[in-house]
Amino acid sequence: MRIDILTLFPEMCYAYLNESIIGRARKKGAITIECENIRDYTLDKHNRVDDAPYAGTTGMVMQAQPIYDCYMSLCEALEKKPHLIYMSPQGKTLTQQRALELSKLDNIALLCGHYEGVDERVIEEIVDEEISCGDYVLTGGELPALLLADCIARMVPGVLPNEEAYTNESHFASLLEAPQYTRPYEWRGKTVPDILLSGHHKAVAAWKRQQAIRRTLLRRPDLLERADLSEKERAYVQQLKGEFESN
Ligand code: SAM
Repeated sequence: MRIDILTLFPEMCYAYLNESIIGRARKKGAITIECENIRDYTLDKHNRVDDAPYAGTTGMVMQAQPIYDCYMSLCEALEKKPHLIYMSPQGKTLTQQRALELSKLDNIALLCGHYEGVDERVIEEIVDEEISCGDYVLTGGELPALLLADCIARMVPGVLPNEEAYTNESHFASLLEAPQYTRPYEWRGKTVPDILLSGHHKAVAAWKRQQAIRRTLLRRPDLLERADLSEKERAYVQQLKGEFESN
């Protein structure tokens, strides 16, 4: 899979993309993530890519032409049109499910706005989808784009050691993950739950599942509505609700 980030700040993005799990995955070719500098496509002699908004008050708006030309040049180089996502606080909020669907595409491109945003006409002309990273506003689309690229990359074969590494995590199956522990066994008087040292794989799996359900009910009860629970597990949820109410 290939992800292209259309940005005015490629260095900012590469600082993240060159490190840790994503950096290693890019190096070994499990995924390609590159940045295209929108400023390279300006026709302005002073290299400007923005201008004051019509009838606006403060701030600047990114112009349509450099963004359009940047995307078209990418399409030409790839000989196809990657699914273009504009990172925007006005888009649909990112979910694990949407990231999973996107991870199955061969090519996507992420457009990062900056300043006051982007001229609406280029959005109408080339953008396929708008995605938000949450109900708040940041100074630019670089962090949201990196966040989306990271979330997608984890589910691309070869990036993590195996599928379990992401299917067992919070949100994948609409549950939060059970608490985790590592050495030492005792730290500041707190010990690791003994079941995790028992070596009984079935009992450990059952404990983790119960903990995940309990934690989800406590912290994100809205997720449980979408979780795939057995009859027995639904009864457990009812039992927990009773316990929480009486406490
Ligand atoms: N004027 C815009 C509005 O009110 O909808 C906000 C512009 S914001 C200051 C600048 C850029 O940051 C946006 O064009 C977008 O690319 C990015 N951005 C800011 N918040 C975001 C969010 N929650 N999710 C995704 N992108 C965001």
